[in-house]
Amino acid sequence: MGNVSIGAFVETDKSGGSMSFNLDRMIERKDRQREIDKNRFEELDSDLCMCCHAYGADKRSLFISCLYELKEAVPEMIDLSGVELDNFKKGYYLRICKHCRAEFIDMLRTWFSEGVGRRGAPKDHDGGELWESASKNIPVRIDGATVMMTEEGYLEYKEKNGNNQNTP
Ligand SMILES: [Zn+2]
Repeated sequence: MGNVSIGAFVETDKSGGSMSFNLDRMIERKDRQREIDKNRFEELDSDLCMCCHAYGADKRSLFISCLYELKEAVPEMIDLSGVELDNFKKGYYLRICKHCRAEFIDMLRTWFSEGVGRRGAPKDHDGGELWESASKNIPVRIDGATVMMTEEGYLEYKEKNGNNQNTP
């Protein structure tokens, strides 16, 4: 596969010097990471909590799959796409202790109840709030969702998140 130019995602092409997106390199990087994660999974110490590093018997497996690269949020997660497992065990993996599991379950409870609390609110098909002010005209991509911000809100967000912010 050759180099493909894709909008804003550009880098210098070594061979021609033109600005192009090297899809091959991205795929290679992804394949390499997949291989690293496959080995990490196979060599995993099942007694170690990958989160708080509690050590000893009785750890638990957490599998999460939601069509999003969750390593962006938790780089320690293992991408299971290169690992052969039973059905329904795809996506990302963490080996965790019971305390970290309890924290995760509590976070899920909070997350879901907040969503339930927004059920009556006007929203678009992605669940994004329908903004009241026309000044919220800057779309910002946060964890795979688009959030509309005012210029002031965007500058605040940018200040807080540094280079981690990403716009569509
Ligand atoms: Zn833990």
